[in-house]
Parts: sequence; C-alpha cells; structure tokens
Amino acid sequence: MNKENIYNCLIIGSGPAGYTAAIYASRANLNPIMIEGLEPGGQLTTTTDVENFPGYPEGIMGPEMMLDLKKQAERFGTKIISGMVKSVDFSKEKGGIHKIVSNNDTVYLSKTVIISTGASAKYLGLESEKKYMGFGVSACAVCDGFFFKGEDVVIVGGGDSAAEEAIYLSKLCNKVYLLVRKDKMRASKIMAKRVMENSKIETLFNHETIEILGNESVHSVKVLNNKTNKEITIKASGFFVAIGHKPNTDIFKGQINTDDVGYIITKPDSSLTNLPGVFASGDAQDSIYRQAVTAAGSGCMAALDAERYLSEFE
Ligand code: NDP
Repeated sequence: MNKENIYNCLIIGSGPAGYTAAIYASRANLNPIMIEGLEPGGQLTTTTDVENFPGYPEGIMGPEMMLDLKKQAERFGTKIISGMVKSVDFSKEKGGIHKIVSNNDTVYLSKTVIISTGASAKYLGLESEKKYMGFGVSACAVCDGFFFKGEDVVIVGGGDSAAEEAIYLSKLCNKVYLLVRKDKMRASKIMAKRVMENSKIETLFNHETIEILGNESVHSVKVLNNKTNKEITIKASGFFVAIGHKPNTDIFKGQINTDDVGYIITKPDSSLTNLPGVFASGDAQDSIYRQAVTAAGSGCMAALDAERYLSEFE
C-alpha cells in the first residue's frame, strides 16, 4: 500500500459540523479531505434566515453561511470532493486504516474518519405523498414555496421546523393550513406564538393527514380530526411535510453503534465512537440539540479528537 495515498483525516458530510471539523483539521496540518454528500452544505442550504448563530447580529441566510464555511475550510487547505459515500469498511484496530468508497467507486484510505452526515427530512409514509412528490408535495418550504405563490397550501408538523416553514409560506401563499396531530405544538413558545398571531396561518390541532388528493398535481388534502373522528377536505395545491428528521447513518450500520433511531452513540464528552479513529459530530449523533452551533461545536471536538488520536502514532 502506497503511504502517500493514505489520508490523515477524511470527513464525510459538509454541514456546519463537517466544515468546522475541516477548518480545525486543516489548521492542524492534517490535510483533510471532505466528501460533501448528497446535499452540499447540509440542511442549512434549505433554510432562509439564521438568526441564532453567534456572530451575526442581523442574521445570515443559511446558504450564504454555508458558502462562507466552505471558503474558510478551503482557505486552510481542505480538499473538497463532490459525491457521496457508498460504503465504508472501518478498521477495528487502533492505528488501522479505514476504507471509504464513493458513489463513483473511488476508494479512499484514511487513518481517521469524521462522520458528519447530518439528518434528512422524514415523511408521513403515505402512497399519495410519494405519488405527488415534486407535483405538489415537498419537504422543503424554502426550496419549493415559490411555486405556490398566491395559492393555498397545507403543512404538517408541530415543531420549530413546521412553525418556521409555515411562517415562510405565509409570506408567499394566500393561506396556510398547519396540521398539528396533538392539541398543542411542540415548537418553542416564541415560534408557536408567531404562528398563532399570523393571520394567514390557520392551525388545525388534532388533525392528521388521511390522503393527498390530486390529478396531475395536488388539488386537496383529506384530513381527520382525531378527537371528533370527523373528516374534512382542504383545497390546497401544495402539501409540505415538516415532521422532523432521520440521521443519515444507514451506511455505517453494523459497524458503528447507534441508538434505535440511528443516531451514532459517542462516548460522553467526546466525539469518540465504538471504533478507534472514527469520530462522529453534528446531527448524525445529536438527537437532542440539533442546532447549527452545536453541530459546529461537535465538529471542532471531532477534529481535536482526531488530532489527538493521530498524535499517539507519531
Ligand atoms: P421535531 O422533532 O421537534 O418536531 C416534529 C413535529 O412533527 C412534532 O410536532 C411531531 O408531533 C410532528 N410529527 C412527527 N411525526 C408526525 C406524523 N407522522 N404526523 C404528523 N405529525 C408528526 O422536529 P423539527 O424538525 O421541527 O425540529 C428539530 C429540532 O430542530 C428541534 O430541536 C427544533 O427546536 C430545532 N429547530 C430549530 C429552529 C430554529 O431555532 N430556528 C428551526 C427548526 C428546527 P408530536 O409533537 O405529536 O410528536
């Protein structure tokens, strides 16, 4: 094996965790390589204003922030590869070499791996949801809201994502119906208040989706009031799903320890996984905080952990 082809540090995923890991690893002279993943820049590229990332008193647009992070990582020499990781073969030995295969069958070898693959949107699992995907159904209001300008839309979910997206849609659409399956929203108080005070949003508590109806594209949504068992049909051309996310960790199954949902288990107060030289950061290992700033912090931890691990073999 040619030693020159073995990287010190390979980062999988390009959200705030991945880029922060890249900034730290490259400034520590680890010459990291990053494989960007399916959604370069991660979930923040599908959001608008980020108002809670420290250092931006006026807020910043998500995609702009991710471009800045990318530039910062590249400035210190991170090699960024477009593409996805198809499979991994992690070494179980301390000091072992990990093998990562990309979607174009390129094989990368690395002494350490930082997993920062994030999480993806969840769907309801209805047949009609699949059928009308891209024809009225979307999991990203910011990406697709524009197509429903002046129209009536439905959005499902009761968390901060649903609240944020409902407010976003209210700026574009004629009317937004928010379906919350419980009698209250899970969203933070401030976000829930903004939703309730928005005259364009009608929140329907205790309502669940039965079916999305349409011809070539969505024209209405059949919903059930789970308290009264009454069904109603809402006329709407857009159906947005905002019911949370699933960690993108399927490719690591059987090698990396995860919880039941798929979140990678890290050793307390560290980014260490069950395998030596493999570290996890960001939403792929965080089911609790899931914020850009906590993801960035954990990316920093992973790079420092990788650097310490490598220094043991120098
Ligand atoms: P959450 O897990 O917080 O909320 C998911 C919501 O979807 C819940 O209300 C849940 O209902 C509902 N839901 C789940 N499954 C279904 C289903 N099958 N049918 C109908 N409803 C369903 O996810 P979010 O994506 O909203 O937020 C994730 C994290 O990101 C949170 O910590 C949040 O605070 C944070 N966030 C912060 C933002 C900000 O600060 N600007 C913006 C967006 C997210 P139930 O309550 O009944 O379980």
